[in-house]
Amino acid sequence: MLRIENLSAAYHGHPVLHGVSLEVKNGEVVALIGPNGAGKSTLIRAVSGVIPYTGQVRTNGDDFAALTPMQRARYIAVVPQAISLTPAFTVLETVLMGRSPYLGFLGHASEQDEELARRSLERVHALGLIDRRVGELSGGESQRVLLARALTQSTPILLLDEPTAHLDLQYQVSLLELVRDLARKDNLAVLVALHDLNLAARYADRIALLVGGVEKAVGTPNQVLRPELIEAAYCLPVHVVPHPFHEGPLVLPAERG
Ligand code: ADP
Ligand code: MG
Repeated sequence: MLRIENLSAAYHGHPVLHGVSLEVKNGEVVALIGPNGAGKSTLIRAVSGVIPYTGQVRTNGDDFAALTPMQRARYIAVVPQAISLTPAFTVLETVLMGRSPYLGFLGHASEQDEELARRSLERVHALGLIDRRVGELSGGESQRVLLARALTQSTPILLLDEPTAHLDLQYQVSLLELVRDLARKDNLAVLVALHDLNLAARYADRIALLVGGVEKAVGTPNQVLRPELIEAAYCLPVHVVPHPFHEGPLVLPAERG
């Protein structure tokens, strides 16, 4: 499980996150929502140890601050926001990078590492891409390869930063179904930044709303996707109605009055 306590972070002395606390249990998907610039990516960067922060990030009592980046990478895998793949690498080479926290200096991937990479590709329905160069992949294929790389890292915690950003509706749904499945079957703690509130409502067990680096609400989709909270966060009038086909709320932008 992932426990974030009173986390603050700044860029060049300019504060961006103000005392965020959040717990993600094993088997649970928590969606991080909030307008552009709210600090979602910054929170994911801080938790993964890429930028400095104050406060605590722990798993089962262990504080990540005491770990080296390689040790931390055995607990937390990240699917980053930007398509950040090296175009000339093959899919297999890219997915095998997920094993680097276990290989040591100049370590070479073993047959077991390669088997793990294949299995991860299979789980994201991308085994057929294994010998392709990542520079030739579509947005949806790249996103699946990034997820396979994170799975190959074999961590109990998975962080995803707007993994559906460049995908069409079909791939948004299949990626989030897969992510929820991973949480359930592998008992992973999953924190996923999402900008689509209705996808968050449908696939997350709980939602955390971030505005201006401040945590405004945490709870079930019904508790967080309330009109007054969403209107204040996004400066937009909304209607929230029960979803006609799923449990939980449906957020509809209203006409500006
Ligand atoms: P979100 O992911 O919710 O859209 P970000 O975490 O990317 O928000 O950004 C939060 C704030 O931090 C914004 O005001 C943004 O301009 C600022 N910011 C993000 N990255 C940097 C950076 N590398 N240097 C300076 N400021 C940054
Ligand atoms: Mg972001």
